[in-house]
Amino acid sequence: MGSVAAEKPHAVCVPYPAQGHMNPVLKLAKVLHARGFYITFVLTEFNYRRLVRSQGAEAVRGLADFRFASIPDGLPYSDEDATQNVPDLCESTMKNCLGPFLGLLAKLNEETSSGAPPVSCIVSDGVMSFTLDAARELGIPEILFWTTSACGFLAYLHYQQLVDRGLVPLKDEAELNNGFLDTEVDWIPGLRKGTRLKDLPTFMRVTDLNENMFNFVLHEVGRVSMASALVLNTIDALEVPALAALQKILPCVNSIGPLSALVRRTIPSDSPLAAISTSLWKEDSTCLNWLASKEAQSVVYVNFGSITIMSNEQLVEFAWGLANCGYAFLWVIRPDLVKGESAVLPPEFLEEIKERGMMTSWCAQEELLFDPAVGVFLTHSGWNSTLESLTAGVPMICWPFFAEQQTNCLYSCTDWGVGMEIDNNVKREEVEGMIREMMAGEKGRAMRAKAAEWKESAAKAISPLGSSSVNLEKVIEEVLRSNS
Ligand code: UDP
Repeated sequence: MGSVAAEKPHAVCVPYPAQGHMNPVLKLAKVLHARGFYITFVLTEFNYRRLVRSQGAEAVRGLADFRFASIPDGLPYSDEDATQNVPDLCESTMKNCLGPFLGLLAKLNEETSSGAPPVSCIVSDGVMSFTLDAARELGIPEILFWTTSACGFLAYLHYQQLVDRGLVPLKDEAELNNGFLDTEVDWIPGLRKGTRLKDLPTFMRVTDLNENMFNFVLHEVGRVSMASALVLNTIDALEVPALAALQKILPCVNSIGPLSALVRRTIPSDSPLAAISTSLWKEDSTCLNWLASKEAQSVVYVNFGSITIMSNEQLVEFAWGLANCGYAFLWVIRPDLVKGESAVLPPEFLEEIKERGMMTSWCAQEELLFDPAVGVFLTHSGWNSTLESLTAGVPMICWPFFAEQQTNCLYSCTDWGVGMEIDNNVKREEVEGMIREMMAGEKGRAMRAKAAEWKESAAKAISPLGSSSVNLEKVIEEVLRSNS
């Protein structure tokens, strides 16, 4: 065929259609591309439109051997520029995406005359498990990528046991607040001693087994053994007990993170590949200029990720906590962060912080966390944010929202030694006190030192002979072998 791409293995990469899944799957796709793969990166039509809006049409043009494709997510057409409803999206992708995905694969295989090699493997998000049926139908291997921490994934794998042990469904709503969630979970090997029900991923807080997120997780974890390999964006050294326990259940589990660092090591920052982004909001580049004028470790960085929703009261408590702590801060307030109406901050607050507070709606988080000016990260403990913070050596103040963020928060504040948790019912005094402790107290100093150690572990894991590099190479070799 004479095409540069003709001899390459072709990986079709499928993230779950949310920012915190698209980013890590894109990173894995980039690393595979650098390793010689032809890539087709599959977005939903909804996110394809959003990406064009946020980054311009150029964003989805791709490269000769790194192409974008799209499939419908099955939900009604929408041009909204906001995070989609997670339970609806999960149900819809699970029920509706296999057909369009098979159609896309057939089209890609017909189009080989255009220069693309035949599809040789699927690299799919763990919560897009319909792709496993497609891999089976085409007789090709699939790498399943759970974009969670190992401890979070371990907890999800035990959801059925919650039912078998009579812990779920909860008897009634009252069990959410009457101390029942403080019940210790001492029956999941590999999970730290002292873990409570409230530290498990929140989708187990149901009074009816038919609630769709609980069902969805049960369905998705029930299919993991169909994968040829399972990869996690984590570091061996960080999650030793959880990974060991996982490998007993699923020998094909491999830690390959932090992918952000692996991308930085293997892909030149000025290459066209590095420029490919899946950021669904336009990043405000002035944040980095603003930080450049600040002293080392003098700024509080606040960002609750792409899905967290809070009430305006909670927002106002955070605002006064930040105002009263006295430190400079950079606060990212997504347009859809606050329930219902958009965020309303008191004018007195805005007046008070105008010399030392910067607020924006989206930023280049990874780059920003590496800025020496950042002293602490006030985060919702999403896995990507947590890992990005550890990779940059920044300690965290944690305010988990949902999913396995509670588990990540628990580990950040205990075994990993890098975090302090803010109560869900956030109060300004607590925010102020924790920031002061983190920026100038003894505990803060110890946590910063611990975070610096994790930064080193991360760098070691992705070095050429580090655990994550070696594990990823092993997975790639297996996939290539099963194709030959
Ligand atoms: N992110 C970003 N800019 C922002 C906020 C978030 O680039 O202003 C990125 C962040 O670096 C991370 C992802 O969006 O890679 C969020 O994923 P995470 O797992 O932390 O949380 P989620 O959004 O899934 O709740």
